[in-house]
Amino acid sequence: MAHNHSELHGNNESVLLKKTEENPFESMMQRFDIAADILKLDKGVYDYLKTPARQYIVSIPIQMDNGQVEVFEGYRVIHNDILGPSKGGIRYSPDLDLTEVKALAAWMTWKCAILNIPFGGAKGGVKCDPTKLTKGELERITRRYTASMMDVFGEEKDIPAPDMGTNEQTMAWIMDTYSMHIRHTETAVVTGKPIILGGSEGRKEATGRGVMQVSVTAMNKLGIDPTKSNVVVQGFGNVGSISAKLLAEQGCKIIGISDVTGGYYNKNGIDINNAIEYAEKNKTLNGFTGGDKLTQEELLELECDVLIPAAKEDQITGKNASKIKAKIITEGANGPTTALADPILKEKGILVIPDILANAGGVTVSYFEWVQDRVGYYWTLDRVNRRLQRMMRIAFDSVFETSVKYNVTLRIAAYILAIDKVAKSLKLRGIYA
Ligand code: GLU
Repeated sequence: MAHNHSELHGNNESVLLKKTEENPFESMMQRFDIAADILKLDKGVYDYLKTPARQYIVSIPIQMDNGQVEVFEGYRVIHNDILGPSKGGIRYSPDLDLTEVKALAAWMTWKCAILNIPFGGAKGGVKCDPTKLTKGELERITRRYTASMMDVFGEEKDIPAPDMGTNEQTMAWIMDTYSMHIRHTETAVVTGKPIILGGSEGRKEATGRGVMQVSVTAMNKLGIDPTKSNVVVQGFGNVGSISAKLLAEQGCKIIGISDVTGGYYNKNGIDINNAIEYAEKNKTLNGFTGGDKLTQEELLELECDVLIPAAKEDQITGKNASKIKAKIITEGANGPTTALADPILKEKGILVIPDILANAGGVTVSYFEWVQDRVGYYWTLDRVNRRLQRMMRIAFDSVFETSVKYNVTLRIAAYILAIDKVAKSLKLRGIYA
């Protein structure tokens, strides 16, 4: 249950301390409440914006390679489509549930609004463990899931993309299944596709590139020289590994990295290309000798200039926030910091670049991919990267200005900006009845 909006009158972020860390949706709503209160959002508009527009749950029966039938659960939540077709990734994870998908869908709405992308927000996925499934099983799950979503997906309606546990191959299967059903190839129905199937140059690296860019911008604001900085990255998937690689290219020293097998620390700097090669060859960083072994907790608590949580939700919490020693936190993952941790980090003077700004490079290049597919004209990598950089810079500056104007954290400023934009659009469109 979301909290009563009126509870938060007085614009007091410390109210959060009385609340508990419940789930990602609750975490999202607690920030939403603070921003809504500052904006003096009308109660009706508040209720409208907090409620997902549509939620779908489907069962996905699959014949496994051993001949047995197994049934998986699939989700798609359209949080909002006021600004345009809904957009957001597809997550395959063993502990996925509707609450998580709802939070992630709402974050997509805010992310697109901040970046000025003409999309609403959505998220979906299947509760499954992709590491334990064969390629054939994954393909059947993806195709059956897509077939169940034929009335939901559409290049003008709802456009999926990769997220945790899915990749370019998954997107190719979605595109193919959708195209087979509508009897012609429709590339714009999904983004994050392989380049030869209508994907965009630079899409794969886009989230990491955005993370790198906002981190460098924040370092410049704080007077930290990137070439003298120490960076710690939690998570070594697409976002974590590319952020680390691109920051290393900017001259930063990456002193800590991690994946499911734990953390790796080297005070002289980890050779990131070497680590990426190792992880590609061995599937994980297990046995990587480029750094000393650490636990995830120890990794997060390392002294550094920039900490990039790029793994999953709820990593920096009310319990460990006081032990974080970074000067800047750039949220590569969605929801890595709980609402309870926010005031503690603020108190410590840590500059947090919130997820809905920091990791928005991915959906920005997804938007470019959709535009290119619909026009049928493809851009060079250079053009993609230049336009991404421009949009990230504009978004960073507007969040920063909003934070100064309202004297709030960058996170609350990002919510204010996003909610205000969606609320204004809603007012102009009006309520159809
Ligand atoms: N899954 C990514 C995100 O959370 C990308 C979504 C997209 O490109 O639509 O932002």
